Amino acid sequence: MDALDVETVRKDFPILERQVHGRPLVYLDSAATSQKPQAVLDAMDRYYEQSNANVHRGVHALAEEATEAYENARGKVARFIRADPRGVVFTKNATEAFNVLAYSLAANRLGDGDILLSTQMEHHANLVPWQLVQPRAGFEIRYIPVIALGPDAGTLDLDAFDEIVATGRVKLFTVTAMSNVVGTINPVADLAARVRAANSEAVVVVDGAQSVPHLPTDLLALEADFLCFSGHKMLGPTGIGVLAGKPELLDDMPPFLGGGEMIANVTLEGTTFNEVPYKFEAGTPPIAEAVGLGAAVDYLSALGMESVRAHEVALLEHVLPALNSVEGVTVHGPTDPSGRGAAVSFAVEGLHPHDIGTIMDREGVAVRAGHHCAKPLVRLLGSAATTRASFYVYNSVDEVQALIDAIEATKRFFVR
Ligand code: PLP
Repeated sequence: MDALDVETVRKDFPILERQVHGRPLVYLDSAATSQKPQAVLDAMDRYYEQSNANVHRGVHALAEEATEAYENARGKVARFIRADPRGVVFTKNATEAFNVLAYSLAANRLGDGDILLSTQMEHHANLVPWQLVQPRAGFEIRYIPVIALGPDAGTLDLDAFDEIVATGRVKLFTVTAMSNVVGTINPVADLAARVRAANSEAVVVVDGAQSVPHLPTDLLALEADFLCFSGHKMLGPTGIGVLAGKPELLDDMPPFLGGGEMIANVTLEGTTFNEVPYKFEAGTPPIAEAVGLGAAVDYLSALGMESVRAHEVALLEHVLPALNSVEGVTVHGPTDPSGRGAAVSFAVEGLHPHDIGTIMDREGVAVRAGHHCAKPLVRLLGSAATTRASFYVYNSVDEVQALIDAIEATKRFFVR
């Protein structure tokens, strides 16, 4: 495993050359969306300049090239997460992937007496879709609590988990692999195995929106049936996400959206459906975005996901003690870098996160302030909002110092 050469990596990201409010940009909001390397921008431009056509339809040269580019991207994504390409469905984003599962899987597979088990740590994308179908389907939704205080703060309450699983009624278990608020890395494979041991019919869904960009991913080793993630958080473009799953389960599910591409035959009396994954890709898909995501996967693979993770652990080893040494700062979530990712939420005594974010922006430091679309978790942290700094392949140790300096400047601003 090679360490990342951050200065070289940074040169691949044109946006990092710009200034904000007359200062060099320090971008610490990659958990919301990552920046894009030149290779991704070029791949999308090249596609539009050279090969643009609709896919799976034409017999002309451009249509064939576009189809090949789109299907190549599917193959790259499948290899990146070690999944069967027939089970890699391109969606609009992770949110849409969860909606497919709520409407096509949960609404049909679960009913009275079944439990859909989720956690208090989830992003709204992995909460709201299930809540929308629950009244019709009649299953019960239970949540594993998150421990609020003490050495295990920010981790799942596994005693509560065991108690619910022991009912044998958990038919669908959904969990984030990495929290977008407190960074916690959950022991997904272990939890999945325990759920399956109690109910062999249970299906396991993993939210990989924060983990796939930052950790090596192996769908088989995760013991998951489905994995949902977004391209834009992993150096790819917006407008594309992935629902990766077992082809035989996808086969059994009714389609989510109807229209062109997803059909085998249509008469005025009815429709038969295309095979997976096409059954879940109604209409013209995000072709250029798939090409961009393929280029992002190539870029990350060239860096090596082990190296990406090692780089972020090294940054955490700087950022956690540095934040803790600032008077009045409380860092949320696991304290050991080995148990967490590089999305770091913190509070500054006496200051509102939105004020912190605004003043830090004037210092050129882009952080996120708010509920991070995870209101139940942020509420548990005792607030309506947190400030979150999140790091990625292009962030340097110097930028950790810039973060600390900006927090100090913010504190000075408010005590003037
Ligand atoms: N899950 C997690 C953990 C996230 O952090 C996010 C986005 O912040 C999502 C799901 C939803 O991703 P998107 O908005 O791209 O659909």
